[in-house]
Amino acid sequence: MNAAAVKKRIANWGNYPVVEAEVARLETEERLAGLLSRPMIARGMGRCYGDASLGERVLSTLPHDRFLSFDEGTGDLECQAGTVLGTIVETFVPRGWFLPVTPGTRFVTVGGAISADVHGKNHHIDGSFCRHVRSLRVMTADGGIVNCSQNENAELFDTVCGGMGLAGIILSAVIRLKKVETPYVRQETVKAKDLGEVMDLFERSADWPYSVAWIDCLSGSGRALMIRGAHATREEALGLPVSGAKTPSLNVPFFLPSFALNGVSVKLFNALYYAKARRGVTTAITGYESFFYPLDGVQNWNRIYGRRGFVQYQLVLPKEQSRAGIAAVLKRVADAGQGSFLAVLKLLGKGEHLLSFPMEGYTLALDFPITKNLFGLLDELDAIVLRHGGRLYLAKDARMNAGTFNKGYANADAFRARKAKFDPRGVFQSLQSKRLHI
Ligand SMILES: Cc1cc2nc3c(=O)[nH]c(=O)nc-3n(C[C@H](O)[C@H](O)[C@H](O)COP(=O)(O)OP(=O)(O)OC[C@H]3O[C@@H](n4cnc5c(N)ncnc54)[C@H](O)[C@@H]3O)c2cc1C
Repeated sequence: MNAAAVKKRIANWGNYPVVEAEVARLETEERLAGLLSRPMIARGMGRCYGDASLGERVLSTLPHDRFLSFDEGTGDLECQAGTVLGTIVETFVPRGWFLPVTPGTRFVTVGGAISADVHGKNHHIDGSFCRHVRSLRVMTADGGIVNCSQNENAELFDTVCGGMGLAGIILSAVIRLKKVETPYVRQETVKAKDLGEVMDLFERSADWPYSVAWIDCLSGSGRALMIRGAHATREEALGLPVSGAKTPSLNVPFFLPSFALNGVSVKLFNALYYAKARRGVTTAITGYESFFYPLDGVQNWNRIYGRRGFVQYQLVLPKEQSRAGIAAVLKRVADAGQGSFLAVLKLLGKGEHLLSFPMEGYTLALDFPITKNLFGLLDELDAIVLRHGGRLYLAKDARMNAGTFNKGYANADAFRARKAKFDPRGVFQSLQSKRLHI
């Protein structure tokens, strides 16, 4: 790609697919324009699970990671696109600020969060990440640098937000942080006996800023633990260290053999996890790290799925279809005896950009180790999702086909038209965009 480009075997979080790519680093904006003569795709922390930031030529944005300015009055933080969300929270939580929206890991770049228009546990109230982006600087396919926002070059802004890196390279962004009184969260855990009960709980908890549920998807009933939370006030966190709680860090040092995670071990883990929680409602004041980023406490946890990797299957269904559709998906998964350690349910609000994943309804995320029969099962789940008017999350996808994408994303053609306008030569391409003909 240039003098600094090296050939590497890379994969994203699911370790599937693994590809040989020419990887260059975004060192300076001046040199970047010279790299746009052939197709490429931007890549941040590689925390999308599948192939959205993989291609033959990849641009790592990680060296582009500086804070540029901060306005104490408004909370507006300007930073380069390779800045990792974890660096933002570590720096700003002690000063009384938090991210307006955060995904379930802090090891994500600002560029990646904008391109996937990521959602958090507060989507039903605060929308996705891009709602809080005040402006962007973007390098377009012709090498020009364009400032854009909802008021300036608004069409480009709308296409880049949630645009999966296909409309331009985000160089820097201004994000509005939100004020918090403490680094703690007041959390309630509520046990639910089945899917219907947990959905009722979501409805009744709609005024809680954050809510999420863990589902025991092998139990058949969809029994669940729902966790809801709000940033703790000074009074609620009285007596706790002002610096916040440190979460211990564990590591999975190597890929576990694939038999380590089979249907029996997952069933046992889920049963124990559910049984450990007390009946009714349990209240706690917890550090923000363990509330927002419980999985980050175990580094490289993706290795428990073995070298063959895994797929995260994340679907969303319109609210009125959610109960029947999610029950049908869980039933099919349980019948297939496919264990999913992680089965997470959230309530979402409206999607705001052409390829944004959210729609008003419920989203379910399931992790599956890659096995011989998996893709056949996932094709069956696709049919259930489409039958119920839903779609799959591009940031998690490694295998859906173009038909499923087109049916799920009503604005797929509108996005293609915008891409043709901003990137007529097709400079920005990923393995995913080629598979889905975006
Ligand atoms: C444990 C875990 C939990 C997660 N929880 C959630 C969650 O709760 N909610 C949620 O929405 N997502 C979640 N995700 C997914 C993750 O937030 C997204 O995939 C995010 O996009 C990853 O950002 P990244 O920096 O790793 O980018 P990558 O994975 O490298 O890239 C993601 C996309 O962004 C594009 N991109 C990256 N940088 C730029 C740039 N500078 N300019 C243009 N395009 C760019 C890439 O081309 C690609 O299309 C989770 C992921 C993990 C591993």
